[in-house]
Amino acid sequence: METNPKTGKQFLDSVNTMLRQTSADLKLEERYPGHQLVERMIIPDRVVSFRISLQRDNGAIDVLTAYRVQNNNFRGPYKGGIRWHHRVDLAEVQALAALMTIKCAVVGLPLGGAKGGVAIPEGRVYSVPERERLSRKYVEGLVHDLGPKKDIPAPDVNTDAQAMAWMADHYGKFTGESITAAFTGKPLSMGGSQGRAEATGVGVIMALERHAHHKHLELKGKTLAIQGFGNVGSHAALKAHSETGMKVTHVSNEFGCVFQDEGLDIPALMKWVAQNGQKALIKFPDGQECKEDILSADTDVLCLAALENAVTADNVGCIRAPIVIEGANGPLTAEADALAVKAGLDIVPDILANAGGVTVSYFEMVQNENQDRWTREYVLERLRGIMNNAYDDLREAARKHKCTLRRAAFLKAVDEIAAACDLRGAQ
Ligand code: GLU
Repeated sequence: METNPKTGKQFLDSVNTMLRQTSADLKLEERYPGHQLVERMIIPDRVVSFRISLQRDNGAIDVLTAYRVQNNNFRGPYKGGIRWHHRVDLAEVQALAALMTIKCAVVGLPLGGAKGGVAIPEGRVYSVPERERLSRKYVEGLVHDLGPKKDIPAPDVNTDAQAMAWMADHYGKFTGESITAAFTGKPLSMGGSQGRAEATGVGVIMALERHAHHKHLELKGKTLAIQGFGNVGSHAALKAHSETGMKVTHVSNEFGCVFQDEGLDIPALMKWVAQNGQKALIKFPDGQECKEDILSADTDVLCLAALENAVTADNVGCIRAPIVIEGANGPLTAEADALAVKAGLDIVPDILANAGGVTVSYFEMVQNENQDRWTREYVLERLRGIMNNAYDDLREAARKHKCTLRRAAFLKAVDEIAAACDLRGAQ
């Protein structure tokens, strides 16, 4: 993936434009005169940025910039993941934090929004001990800002349950308590929840199933292309492959795209990538390397599960699938989204489609608070209920306002966040 210094800024501009537009549609200024609600949603409550001097295994030091943006906590404690990626910058993290606030409101979780990130040099792959040092240093920089009732991070791009384990452990060392509830997405043995690791990908397919249900569309036998084979894309692929009867014909990552007309054997592909690395995806023995970009795949559904701004005004025209579901946060730029809507693409937006991860994080918080353990079946049943209800609400709002699901989601979320902000007074 190319480094484009403008992507974070462009992403933030898109999110802020959407917030302003929604506030105007909701007539917030008229309903709450002089309360400046939109500014209070756009300007984050707090931005923390700090340096991490990370010692490599060979003794050299990597000087890294780390961020945590707490967007707002009007509806509940700050919540959102931490990503380690070369594209991380303040604007990107700020945009992602705002999307977390919106996402939690869309699915009705009593949580606010935050996001964290560390900008990693491009191409750098850290060893396990280096990842551990990075996790611990990140917590050291933020120890007073985090907490189970304050701000609860989770995994995101390039972070996982092991990173959350180190972070929770380090946080406990500072507080003197064996508190693991300050993080979600932890391993099961440290108070993690059943179903959390795969929750975002599973939730994407649950949203697609509900979409198909409303459209009277039979998913069985339909074809699916998935951009991105990380945590979200791979679990979405697995659920689609094993539970819906869909054929996952195309899968891509930053190194290329692989296809199989009969449908890729997803468990075998996951095993292959786990053993040989992401670079080897295109060499999967039971598939062929695609000649074109995955966006051009001639499938029934396209799932975008890579990074933000993957689809721009320049390449949106390549999309051939009539249904697009967003597993990543912000995969379409605002311009691309407008063009896609104009072209009649049917889009299930990120703030609904990928809310499964934070929803099961919330379940993890509830279990931790009550020293409880839920079964995987119970977690998935509750997740299904939340995804279906949220989808049904948006579908109804989109019908009423004659708008897209994305606009319906923003209308619902911004209205609720604004009401909570107003009730709290001039804080
Ligand atoms: N990183 C995930 C997201 O973007 C999950 C966040 C969480 O569980 O707090 O939605």
